[in-house]
Amino acid sequence: MTGTTTIQRFLEPASAHGDRAFAHQLMEMLAIPVFVLDTSCRVMIWNRACERLTGMTAAEVVGTREHWRSFYDEPQPTLADLLIQERGGEIPSIHPRPSSGRSAGQPGHLSTESWFDMPRVGQRRYLALDASPIYDERGRLTAVIETLRDMTDEKMAQIALEQLATRDGLTGLANRRCFDDTLNAEWARALRQRQPLSLLMVDVDNFKAYNDANGHIGGDECLKRIATAVSSEMRANDLVARYGGEEFAVILPNQSLKGAASVAERIRTRVEQLRVPNRLALGEHVTVSIGAATALPSPDTSASELVATADAALYRAKHMGRNRISLPLSEPG
Ligand code: GH3
Ligand code: MG
Ligand code: MG
Repeated sequence: MTGTTTIQRFLEPASAHGDRAFAHQLMEMLAIPVFVLDTSCRVMIWNRACERLTGMTAAEVVGTREHWRSFYDEPQPTLADLLIQERGGEIPSIHPRPSSGRSAGQPGHLSTESWFDMPRVGQRRYLALDASPIYDERGRLTAVIETLRDMTDEKMAQIALEQLATRDGLTGLANRRCFDDTLNAEWARALRQRQPLSLLMVDVDNFKAYNDANGHIGGDECLKRIATAVSSEMRANDLVARYGGEEFAVILPNQSLKGAASVAERIRTRVEQLRVPNRLALGEHVTVSIGAATALPSPDTSASELVATADAALYRAKHMGRNRISLPLSEPG
């Protein structure tokens, strides 16, 4: 008999008060961080997992509107506040990321994910947030529950994978694959916008000799310094990539041949000014040769022609004695 009574008590709690206490305890013990706000945006529940994640205790925050302090340095509405205040439309401006505003699948719910600085714990965390309304039996909003999932490890793994797929391991520049994708995208954009597109091919002079004299690791260090020097001459929309071994490529959107030649000359000078000794090179320092090319894309031409033109110019720069820039023999038509 006693057993039946216990089961019945679980299924049909004795009173509304017992009901609430039970629900409260359930939430307290959940491994997922959760907090609940009443309709005036005061904290009703702040569970233990939420205390651990935010570094803010229930004792400090329950009954207040201070919960924002867990996530921000200055007052900002949390997702639960936005839901209560019917301001869900503001999510993209508060969390301006591609993943923001992901659908929760249920009407009346809000979801987003974003980096938070978490001032109390002093750690940057990537959180996935869901806010859901709780209604009474007459359909009136009584509270909003927000669940928080710490996705920092997953996000870091995703960023590392993206890095791996697009960056060169030695120099940190864009890799060849990223260069190919960017060049094709910029070509299509230049075609649409009827703008010129310029390309520089930068090759280190006599690098085999440098490697022979300094060893492969010394060569790697030199490549890193050159990569930094080349990058320092870039504008926001330019892309510098490691094209191959000791060869770099620079995409210059909306840049004329004259402009490209001046960028090339600045790169050449900057590398020369590094004054990295190379006894076997002509000037006894590491230098680069650069071929430049510019195209006004048309539907019957392709980006590979731009690469071929810049390559031919680079070949001429080498042929003419290295440590120089070279332009195409004829202007683009
Ligand atoms: P040139 O002036 O005609 O360009 O002569 P070069 O010696 O630079 O050209 P070559 O193509 O004969 O040699 C390129 C050298 O670059 C050979 C190769 O060992 C070295 N190299 C390519 N990739 C790397 C790398 O990742 N690290 C190091 N340390 N060396 C590399
Ligand atoms: Mg070389
Ligand atoms: Mg080369």
